[in-house]
Formats: sequence, C-alpha cells, structure tokens
Amino acid sequence: MIISMRLHATKGEIEHVCERIREFGYKVHSIEGEERVVIGAVGVGDVTACLESLEAAPGVESAVRISAPYKFVSREFKKERTVIPVNGVEVGGSEFAIMAGPCSVESEKQIMETAEAVAATGAKILRGGAFKPRTSPYDFQGLELEGLKLLAKARKATGLAIVTEVMSEQDVEVVAEHADIVQVGARNMQNFMLLKALGACRRPVLLKRGMSSTITELLMSAEYITAHGNPNIMLCERGIRTFDTATRNTCDIVAVPLLHELTHLPVILDPSHATGKRSLVPALARAGVAVGADGLIIEVHPSPEKAFSDGAQSLTLDQFRALNNDLKPYLELWKASRACTTAAV
Ligand code: PEP
Ligand code: MN
Repeated sequence: MIISMRLHATKGEIEHVCERIREFGYKVHSIEGEERVVIGAVGVGDVTACLESLEAAPGVESAVRISAPYKFVSREFKKERTVIPVNGVEVGGSEFAIMAGPCSVESEKQIMETAEAVAATGAKILRGGAFKPRTSPYDFQGLELEGLKLLAKARKATGLAIVTEVMSEQDVEVVAEHADIVQVGARNMQNFMLLKALGACRRPVLLKRGMSSTITELLMSAEYITAHGNPNIMLCERGIRTFDTATRNTCDIVAVPLLHELTHLPVILDPSHATGKRSLVPALARAGVAVGADGLIIEVHPSPEKAFSDGAQSLTLDQFRALNNDLKPYLELWKASRACTTAAV
C-alpha cells in the first residue's frame, strides 16, 4: 500500500498513520519529499480494512493498494504451473485435457451412450450436470442424486473421470463422493459459503467465471477456495455478458493467456457456453488450443434436438468425433509450445 499524506500534513498526523499501519501488522517505509510525505506499507494483513481506516485518518490524501489482492493463486507466489492429476491426465501439465458430455444428465441411456462415445475419442473426463442452475424455476432442474448415481455408473463402465456441478454447500459432500472434479457454475462463482465449503473438499474444483465477473474477481474466488485449504483449482473461461446478443455470451479469449500470466492455475475453455451455438464450437475450440488453454469442456449430446438443456450448443456425437480429428494438428503444436514454456518456467 502507498499512503500519500496531504501537503504540509503535521508531524502528529504522519506519526498517527505510521502507528495505525503497524497496528495492522505492516512494516512502514516512509519517503519524505519537500512538501509531502509518502508512506509505504509492506507485509501481510487485512488490506481492505487497513486502507479504509487510513483513508479516514486526518492528513491522508490517498491510500492505494499496489499489489494484487490475491496471493496464493498468483504467479508471484508460485512460478511453476499447478498440475492436477485426474484419471491419468495431468491437467495443467504436458497433456491437453478434454472434458465432454451433456449439459444435463437425463437418463441412463443418454449418459451411457455419450460416455462410450467420449471415451472412444480418448478423452478422459465426462461432464454432465445433475444439479442444474436454470434461469426459470419451471425448466428442468436436473436429476440430482439420481443423476450423480448415473454418472458414477458411467464412470464404472467407461473408466472416465466425472466433472459435475455443485450448487449449494449442503451438497458438497454428496457431489464429491460421486465426482472426480467438482464444478462451480458461473452463477455461483461468488457464492462465498460454497467456495469456503469447497476449501475443505478433497476433490479438485473447476471454477467457472461469472458472466459479469472481472478477472480479478475470478481470481479472488479461487483465492477463497485455496485460502480455505484446497489448492487444486482449474479456472474456466465460459464467456461473459456484453452488449452483443449475436452469441449467447462473448468469449473473452484473451482471458486464457492473461490468466496464465497472473496465476499458476490451469485454465480450461468452454466453447459451448461461450457461444451458445453448435456451429461456432469447433472454431472456438481450436482458438482455445491456439492460445494455450490447458483443456476444453464441451457439451455433447446423442440427440441435441431432444436435450433437456442447452441443445442448441451441444455437438452430436459425430460432430464431437470430427472435432477431435480436426484438433489433432493443433494439439501437436500445443504440445511443442507447452514443452518450450514448461522448460522456460
Ligand atoms: C454448465 O456447465 O452446464 C453450466 C451451467 O455452465 P455455466 O455455469 O458456465 O453457465
Ligand atoms: Mn449447459
């Protein structure tokens, strides 16, 4: 923090500010100019409370934070990438992770058929929502526990790991019991009680960016989970809301390399929710590989026109197979580039 004192602030005012800074647990470094004193506060503490208190102190002109408000998830804190092993894939490491499956788990037949097709492409992770956050209370809300059981059945049959959403802290335990990765949806990115509960969870978390959330807010939500004990977090860019309604969301593609600069956590791109439109998913998936995402999460359905949710953005099984083929040359480049950047870290 940098605290600029007013022109000709009194000695007493300056001393009082230094005292307050020390009370908050920081070290004081002051620079005395001709007319003005600038004070630096260094260390670890409750920055927000300290800033608020100093702003109200007599003789203070401004008090500003100079370091990022997140710590554990920052690149400064940890230079090496965080690698999260899931079912033989090192997410964030030297392998690209593809997660695919339906928006919602609808029936045994639907999830089994999708799981077989996903596994056959070589992907290692199956997605599928059992608890669905829907805008309308009249829309399909998910099969809940029954859906989790079907996902566990699909895992048993195919060997795929499961990523599925948890919507409330009361369900963390049951979801973690059935899933390999617990997903926090965009609408819950700032459900702080849920984030705290996930800190105590033994499963990795896929944290999706809120539709109106800044990059800093996303990282602060990740900081919540890690500060409460769980460092295994994958971030997910899934598009944000802008003035343009031509696509369901607007994909902030540069969020991927930007997050890689700011944090050591893996970054997954969701081209399905980012576009809302099946025809745009393959192009955005390729873009995700090109910008160095650590993986993709893609909605796939055996019969999208019959899907209970997000049919318009779901690929058919054939389209998903075709996408996997299309991605091959891109993934070769990704591997070569990842090998260079890993060596450089
Ligand atoms: C989903 O993954 O189906 C979902 C609801 O995503 P989001 O939270 O990104 O809208
Ligand atoms: Mn969906």
